[in-house]
Amino acid sequence: QAKNAGRGLFSFFSDEMNRLAQERRTLETALRDALKNQELHLHYQPQIELASGQLYGVEALARWTHPELGPISPARFIPLAEECGLIADIGRWALGEACRQLAQWRTQGLRVPSVSVNLSPSSFHDLDLPDMVAQTLQRNALLPQDLTLELTESILLDTNPSTMKTIEAVHAHGVRLSMDDFGTGYSSLSYLRRLPVSELKLDRSFVADLEHNESARALSNAILGIGQSLHLTVVAEGVETLAQRSMLGMQGYPVAQGFLFAHPLAPSELTEWLLQQGQTTTEVEKVGHSSK
Ligand code: C2E
Ligand code: MG
Ligand code: MG
Ligand code: MG
Repeated sequence: QAKNAGRGLFSFFSDEMNRLAQERRTLETALRDALKNQELHLHYQPQIELASGQLYGVEALARWTHPELGPISPARFIPLAEECGLIADIGRWALGEACRQLAQWRTQGLRVPSVSVNLSPSSFHDLDLPDMVAQTLQRNALLPQDLTLELTESILLDTNPSTMKTIEAVHAHGVRLSMDDFGTGYSSLSYLRRLPVSELKLDRSFVADLEHNESARALSNAILGIGQSLHLTVVAEGVETLAQRSMLGMQGYPVAQGFLFAHPLAPSELTEWLLQQGQTTTEVEKVGHSSK
């Protein structure tokens, strides 16, 4: 009987594994089609300068709505894209699309200082990335400082010999690099001397615990200190409450993003938001004059 039960359990697991493998294949095919059929979109989340309330930049975040399955989270399809070799295509697409959109907002007289694009480590394997970035900027009449590339600490586990070269070439061109989800991944800080990043993003797990947890407060303060002493801009992620915002403000955080300010927004929604905030080029000129 025990033998039968064992077999039952085994066939349960193998059925389940088959089902998962099948589901994965289906999703993989769907993702390939999504790229071709333009089912992928970018939403943009504002990043706010805490002292002035001015817009610092926007982060582009990929969205996928499958015609039958509905919205699928990037937490699900980005890892899938990494596994099935589609992530380089998604990276190129996101870069092109984010730069095109930034240029369009500028043409409309809206003030968007820069756009951040998330790239997976394998995008940096591509030695053509620096040229591609330069061409994309040029095609959209943008400057290198209009673009920030976000990478995660997992880039450090990447042993591909092209990675460092590509990162340095992109940096040499004047594009800013940002370390995303800072504080959650790698255990050594020495890499901050080797990687030419100009921005750190405090992971939102620290922000979430700020109000109730002494050590989260100590860590967010320490991370700001590290950033400042290396002349990096530190951006707090995932700010949802006024209490979190004011604690970060008191600690001296220059920039924050999170649902408190705005969710990631579709381009037309961000346009609305910018107009509501008075983030137009003429407004900025006025501010510039009065402060002289
Ligand atoms: P991330 O780059 O760290 O992006 C921040 C995530 O936090 C986003 O989730 C955003 O919607 C969410 N978020 C923003 N504010 C708040 C808040 O106040 N509270 C909470 N709870 N969450 C907040 P999203 O859009 O689901 O993206 C998840 C991750 O997927 C991203 O984390 C990024 O690592 C990856 N990802 C998204 N788009 C792309 C892309 O185009 N390329 C690559 N390679 N990765 C991407
Ligand atoms: Mg990011
Ligand atoms: Mg992040
Ligand atoms: Mg993340």
